[in-house]
Amino acid sequence: MGEHRRVVVVGSGPAGLTAAIYSARGDLAPLVLEGEPSSTSDQPGGQLMLTTEVENFPGFRDGILGPELMATMRAQAERFGAQIETLKATRVDLSNRPFRIWTSLQDPTDEEPAVTADAVVVATGARSLLLGLPDEERLLGHGVSTCATCDGFFFRDKSLVVVGGGDSALEEALFLTKFASSVTIVHRRKELRASKIMQDRAFQNPKISFRWESTVDSIHGERHVEAVSLRDVSTGAVSTLPVDGVFVAIGHAPQTDLFKGQLDMDPAGYLRTGPGTATNVPGVFACGDVQDHVYRQAITAAGSGCMAAIDAERWLSEQER
Ligand code: NAP
Repeated sequence: MGEHRRVVVVGSGPAGLTAAIYSARGDLAPLVLEGEPSSTSDQPGGQLMLTTEVENFPGFRDGILGPELMATMRAQAERFGAQIETLKATRVDLSNRPFRIWTSLQDPTDEEPAVTADAVVVATGARSLLLGLPDEERLLGHGVSTCATCDGFFFRDKSLVVVGGGDSALEEALFLTKFASSVTIVHRRKELRASKIMQDRAFQNPKISFRWESTVDSIHGERHVEAVSLRDVSTGAVSTLPVDGVFVAIGHAPQTDLFKGQLDMDPAGYLRTGPGTATNVPGVFACGDVQDHVYRQAITAAGSGCMAAIDAERWLSEQER
């Protein structure tokens, strides 16, 4: 690379790719840094790469597989001239224009950035949260997972725990019943946060049971998960449940480390935007889950990606005038 672009999009989920489609159709020849696969649960294409059926993205009456939806968006962006590179942005300097961006192709100490840009669209999304238990990281990939669609296949006829009470937890649990002999949903409260339709499906599934008002205290196993200790939060009683796998589905954190000290964030690390998708740095726009902790849907991310591309295009035109 070592080049200059009018627009660089960082991220390649529904927000980033929609921004790329709109910028490309606006003749801005965007460069998209789509990220690099670093694990089964961290892939270019964002969280939809870890989903099976997407039933609520308008336009697909019978639903569509998440990875297929992302592959189609990617091809659509390329069709209009977006250049998509399988690289991570490793460092940014937004203090002066043009903005400077270093990538994973470079030595981190390089003085010169890989690319400079007149406008930047940040669409780096969010990643799965972990419980923070001592053995959780050690057993990641050995029975602990954050992605049922990536790892569910390995748990045929096994007994599993899913932690969480939101839509993700129920979606993971329902998917896992295709393979597992039983799925226990461990939730810290008495009511689920998930949507009614997902609750109904989970309650009706004979393989799913619930441990209400309970938390996972610890995960046991030498080389592979063998059991979990569950704490009843009302009585404090701790019991052991033998299981072969633990799927953690307790929400997400925004991927904003790259922008710390440069872009305004809320206390949880989500980028602050407004008006529209503007950040505090003129010429830098943010869209999708990296700036949205309320809606967090593929369609709202795509919608805000469209807004970011339009905001960037208008801002660039104003600069030229
Ligand atoms: P979420 O709605 O924030 O739910 C997170 C769940 O994890 C909550 O039940 C929460 O408990 C629990 N939790 C959080 N921290 C915990 C901890 N340290 N220990 C134990 N439990 C913990 O996250 P999400 O399920 O990932 O969903 C995010 C958004 O995406 C939502 O808007 C959701 O509707 C959407 N989504 C939609 C679909 C779909 O439509 N098919 C699928 C997936 C996600 P509390 O309830 O007590 O807070």
